[in-house]
Amino acid sequence: MPYSYDDQNIFAKILRGEIPNKTVLETDHTLAFEDINPAAPVHVLVIPKGAYVNADHFGSEASDAELADFQRTVARVANRAGVSPDVGDGYRTISNAGPNAVQEVPHYHVHVLGGRRLGRMLQPGG
Ligand code: 5GP
Repeated sequence: MPYSYDDQNIFAKILRGEIPNKTVLETDHTLAFEDINPAAPVHVLVIPKGAYVNADHFGSEASDAELADFQRTVARVANRAGVSPDVGDGYRTISNAGPNAVQEVPHYHVHVLGGRRLGRMLQPGG
């Protein structure tokens, strides 16, 4: 299935340096930065540098190097933020894809959320 990527989305602009961000970690393939509207004391967005719309696009078409680098960056973010259960009180990763998940930015990203009790996984409705 062909995926259509809009290179004018806000994260594409961040990757091109057209919009500033508070970078937490950067690797060859991945960028992690603070969410502009944090929903928890720790709220970091992890994005691939490649042009992928969502998790299934990334999982289908990214290289093994991109996939591995991305997942390792999520782990490093959780450890550095002190929310990994190894060193802290835990965290949640969320990745929204498409309208039912209310995806706002059409560039694949994982939210890393922690620093407080997050409650049950889903709210009704929304
Ligand atoms: P989504 O609903 O697509 O999963 O989440 C998009 C996230 O991007 C939201 O949590 C929102 O606060 C964040 N966001 C939107 N625009 C910007 C921006 O310009 N900079 C940063 N750092 N985060 C943004």
